[in-house]
Amino acid sequence: MMNREGLIETIKNFHDEIYRENYSHLIGLKEDLNETKIYSKYQYLFTKENIKFLKDLVAKSTALEKRKNNYLIGYVIGNFVGQKLSKISDEAAAFEAKAFVEFKGNKIPYRGLTKIMNNEDNKENRDLLYEAQKPIKLKLLDYNIKYLKQELKLLNDLGYKSYIELNSAIKEVDYFKLRDELKAFLVETDEKFTVLIHEAMKSINVNTDDARNYDWGYYARHKEFDGAFPKENVISTLKKTLLGIGFNLDIQKNIELDIEEREKKVPRAFMMPIKVPDEIKLVIKPNGGYEDYNAILHEAGHAEHYAHVNPDLDYEFKHFGDHSVTEIFSFLFDNLMQDPNWLKIHTRMNNQEIEKFVKENYLQDLFMFRRYIAKLIYELKLFSDDLRKLDSNFNPAKGYYKNFGECYSDILSKATKVKYPKSSYLIDLDGGFYVADYLRAWIGERQLRHKLKQDYGTEWFKNKKAGEFLKKLYSLGNSKHINELMQESGFKGLDTIYIFRDFKDFLDKA
Ligand SMILES: [Zn+2]
Repeated sequence: MMNREGLIETIKNFHDEIYRENYSHLIGLKEDLNETKIYSKYQYLFTKENIKFLKDLVAKSTALEKRKNNYLIGYVIGNFVGQKLSKISDEAAAFEAKAFVEFKGNKIPYRGLTKIMNNEDNKENRDLLYEAQKPIKLKLLDYNIKYLKQELKLLNDLGYKSYIELNSAIKEVDYFKLRDELKAFLVETDEKFTVLIHEAMKSINVNTDDARNYDWGYYARHKEFDGAFPKENVISTLKKTLLGIGFNLDIQKNIELDIEEREKKVPRAFMMPIKVPDEIKLVIKPNGGYEDYNAILHEAGHAEHYAHVNPDLDYEFKHFGDHSVTEIFSFLFDNLMQDPNWLKIHTRMNNQEIEKFVKENYLQDLFMFRRYIAKLIYELKLFSDDLRKLDSNFNPAKGYYKNFGECYSDILSKATKVKYPKSSYLIDLDGGFYVADYLRAWIGERQLRHKLKQDYGTEWFKNKKAGEFLKKLYSLGNSKHINELMQESGFKGLDTIYIFRDFKDFLDKA
């Protein structure tokens, strides 16, 4: 048994080791990933006894102290489960890494398949590729079922009867209230959104009746804009954008940029806050295309947040917490690509192209927002074992879904207008209701953007005072609840009115 201070000190060491191990692996400096070794070194850390100890602390504490303890217990429980079930997840990862699909005489690695499908112009080929990977997905689903069952059992043994209540308490959020507010938006915008999806699918010669989620993936790939977003300009565009609000990546010593090409480096941008705020890694492996720009702006948003956190904050508020806070800052930067003024400065598109790009970007954003609302509706049903059918307004109707695969497919397909496969009902699931963290960040980002425009002008991203304002919010780390962060920005709290209005304006004009 450890006391609180001992626990924190040990976690610091563990966290450092596990992050560095992952980092070297992901940037391609170290081929294998040996998490198990680190976990066994710290096996006395993530134990039932320590969780019980923290549970008592949470019960006894109030206000900020309670939040801090909640973040700590959330971290310990997450690692407790992860460690106990690492055999399943390692096996699944190993299987996934080796799996491949045979297609027209070629062997395609399963992990590279989405990218290939997003670039495949021929609908028939996309359908065939989808069929070809089904057996792999079913095998992965088996792992997922096993994992989730055991996870819920472990939590139950720890005294947490409800997955929803556990996360709700840690993140101080009422998921059902959030769901109901967002559900109303789905219904209200349904008709106009449906028209746009019809048009979009028609433009790629797909009937909406036959449209699958991967057809949307192909549509949203938007190869036609690749010329406007060349690989060579990714880093200079990022640096110029940040300089606009007064952040100079060339002299920010605590953000380390890795742009080197290594064979084994993961082909995506990511950020890793190894030691907040002193050692933040920002990694890029550009291929070109708008998604690259989007990804690096997003990750840079996280990096700037963590790099400006007040070093005197408690460790829990620097390293753990509710992700909705940091996602606000990443969305704020990647959504610059919805801003015609930013596009005018940073790309060579003409006004007409910009108008088209902004429209497509908004449609993609709306698609994803609706998809995430649907995911929240579905996940709340999954974790409350509620198979009652939903009608077209997402209200309970007569009858029951046969299983959660059918439930998932029905809700996701209704919200997005493209068909989602039943077999994805556990693969398309992030733990700890991350779906709601994203949704709350979506809402908060629109508020923050509104505030920045109001105080620093439509071109706030060229105003160093806007950067100063952001720094103040960044410095709070994760100590503030998202509602309080919105209060720091002059609002009453998290408020859906701004994002609803923004999307409704878009739909009215489209
Ligand atoms: Zn993010």
